[in-house]
Amino acid sequence: MALILDGKKLAQTMQAEIAAEVAKFAQQTGVRPGLAAVLVGENSASQVYVRNKRAACQKVGMESWLYDLPELTTQAQLLELVQRLNADANVHGILVQLPLPKQIDEAALVQAVSPEKDVDGFGVYSLGLLAMGKPRFLPCTPLGIQQLLLRNNIAIEGRHVVIVGRSNIVGKPLALILMQKAAGANATVTVCHSKSERLGEITKQADIVIAAIGQTHFLKADMVRPGAVVVDVGINRLPGGLTGDVDFAAVEKVASAITPVPGGVGPMTITMLLHNTLQAARFHANNR
Ligand code: NDP
Repeated sequence: MALILDGKKLAQTMQAEIAAEVAKFAQQTGVRPGLAAVLVGENSASQVYVRNKRAACQKVGMESWLYDLPELTTQAQLLELVQRLNADANVHGILVQLPLPKQIDEAALVQAVSPEKDVDGFGVYSLGLLAMGKPRFLPCTPLGIQQLLLRNNIAIEGRHVVIVGRSNIVGKPLALILMQKAAGANATVTVCHSKSERLGEITKQADIVIAAIGQTHFLKADMVRPGAVVVDVGINRLPGGLTGDVDFAAVEKVASAITPVPGGVGPMTITMLLHNTLQAARFHANNR
């Protein structure tokens, strides 16, 4: 049976570490790291995500502010709020919860967040720095996956990682992170997507397979090399609850280690948001 990579437990451990660092930072600088969360509309999943993110901030001793705006908020109103938060010295990180209502140009909003406060790591500046090999804020889900592997003593360096999914928030930045010329990275990375041919043959060559697709039970046991490590990023809402992109029951018999859903990658994502917010507060303190 595979080792279960318990993201919930690791998230608790890392949040305790972050809480200690927040307390030390506050003592040294008199400043409490703070995250402003912007939520627009009535998307129930987004409401839960934002609530969980704010609760996590409070748990580690960070400030958190919620800007809960109506569905019909205009782009100009939202941009004005982001500009105000960019200029507010108490706010170190800004989180604009996606998706946004259709009247809003999401890309424009993401780019409006100051590069110094881009704790989601989705802005062009953050992604550009990552592509250049000089990362500042790394997107939270990919960073959480890297930590989940490393903190479970799963080597990444030199190994073949196959990522299924090339989105701007998961697959693409994850590939950039794991191929960095840096400790904890240095992987050989292959990225697959909906147009990839002979997908199963490619995933079967991997030492580490990462599924970030959004389709229940997509990755089957015959697509995984015996002994490989499997990371399931997928969150699919079924009537019976959440499932991932991996056929867990079958794949766990083949893999050497595997993440569960829920309780794998998800809790790590929030933890990395806290990590990034602390980094942002440090950045702000050092550049005052
Ligand atoms: P997107 O829908 O943006 O991207 C999905 C990717 O999967 C695309 O690159 C797409 O290819 C690829 N894909 C779709 N179908 C196939 C197929 N049949 N074969 C191969 N590749 C395929 O999703 P996200 O990256 O935003 O999210 C992926 C999953 O991860 C979702 O379930 C999401 O809910 C979850 N998620 C979980 C998070 C967490 O914290 N645990 C955070 C973020 C996301 P193409 O580019 O060609 O269309």
